[in-house]
Amino acid sequence: MTQTAAPKVVTRFPPSPTGALHLGGARTALFNWLYARHHGGRFVLRMEDTDRKRSKDEYVDSILEAMAWLGLDHDEGPYYQSQRFDRYRQAIDQLLEDGRAYWCHCSPEKLKQTREAAMAQGKKAMYDGACREAGLGPAEGAVVRFKGPRTGSTEFNDMVKGVISWANSEMDDLVILRSDSSPTYHLAVVVDDIDMGVTHVIRGDDHVPNTPRQILLYEALGATPPRFAHIPMILGPDKSKLSKRHGATSVVEFRDQGYLPEAMINALARLGWSHGDQEIFSIDELIELFDLDAVGKSPAVFDFEKLTRHNQRYIQKASLERLLELVTPFLARRGIKQFDQPTLVAALPHLTPRATTLVELADWAEPYLLEQPVMDPKAVKKFLKPQNQAVLQAVRGMVERVGVTDLGALEEAFRALCEELGLKMGKVAQPTRVALTGRTFSPGIFEVMAILGKDRVLKRLEAAMETAGG
Ligand code: GLU
Repeated sequence: MTQTAAPKVVTRFPPSPTGALHLGGARTALFNWLYARHHGGRFVLRMEDTDRKRSKDEYVDSILEAMAWLGLDHDEGPYYQSQRFDRYRQAIDQLLEDGRAYWCHCSPEKLKQTREAAMAQGKKAMYDGACREAGLGPAEGAVVRFKGPRTGSTEFNDMVKGVISWANSEMDDLVILRSDSSPTYHLAVVVDDIDMGVTHVIRGDDHVPNTPRQILLYEALGATPPRFAHIPMILGPDKSKLSKRHGATSVVEFRDQGYLPEAMINALARLGWSHGDQEIFSIDELIELFDLDAVGKSPAVFDFEKLTRHNQRYIQKASLERLLELVTPFLARRGIKQFDQPTLVAALPHLTPRATTLVELADWAEPYLLEQPVMDPKAVKKFLKPQNQAVLQAVRGMVERVGVTDLGALEEAFRALCEELGLKMGKVAQPTRVALTGRTFSPGIFEVMAILGKDRVLKRLEAAMETAGG
């Protein structure tokens, strides 16, 4: 007995390059990518750039950049629909030849009138089929329409939503070739998915109404439709459709705000899919666990706070080497292009517990990397005042004596100094902190000293004494 192997899973992500990659698109891309990886299949990337006016090269680049940043690598493509017009035309000619499509000469005005008349009668605005049996040929301004069945229904078993059935009478004859000779979305997407051997179409559930139409096209083109999985829409924390109002929505915006790709992947993975209560997944775990049976039907809420918590966690878990690499561009953005790397290496372990994003991490790191810290005027006014000059002088003397490498000895000397001055620790530590970092917030004062090293500590204390002296 011969056994035919089950066809390999092939998924695809087909963005229209008319804007940046948004969370919804990124989640669709991730689910397709995970499904292909989980099943040992292939993941195809395709730019649906048939709308020449709205499609832009810069959006193609930014989508590719976002995909690469997320680590969603493709096995095939990117294909460009704009380069496949001949193939679409061939498919349209085949449909015309087989009597599954026809030329339509109805003018836009006539179509408008028909639509309005239908709506006035409370009917659905549908094409009335005027040219369906007219046997027309090509002409200036003519379009080609698909000749859909008028009776019966089209049914599919959605892998998320179950059986969905659509009355064929509800679907009018779809334009497949526009009057400017460009193919429409439905035609191009079906021809591509056939040619690229796509076995599973995973996409947002706003595409459900498109699916029966596309299934009819598959059948007319003599192909077996793929399986469909329509994933739930994404809402903002207030349960309204996720939009700009809620905050950043494009992947590169999140990147620029200092989020790590792994935090983003975790947040995206949980948009509609779950595995018990688990929140944190490595990419290998996601590949192993992801399947469509655990994708829910109800809308998913994008939780910005959770993303930030994930991010903080990933920042804390990252190796020093990786952190250095991650934070460097964020330092550059603040104008810190050259700095003493060992200082940053010494500082990072003390800064990561305080940073939720790489932007914050770069901000925390700044005082240690500049020749002199940027002084916060409020902090200067409050702490670097004349009566603190002697305090700073005493701290300077102590550092001179005990150095900053032995934290135990430093702490002991500091306590003794406070006692000698008759001041509470905070009264000495805070002016010192401002002197050393320019700010009122920092890691522990002894750690700050250790990060800076004795020479810089002395120099900064001296500069602050001068400021305090007025
Ligand atoms: N280009 C379409 C979009 O961005 C893809 C639709 C599909 O997955 O078939 O919505």
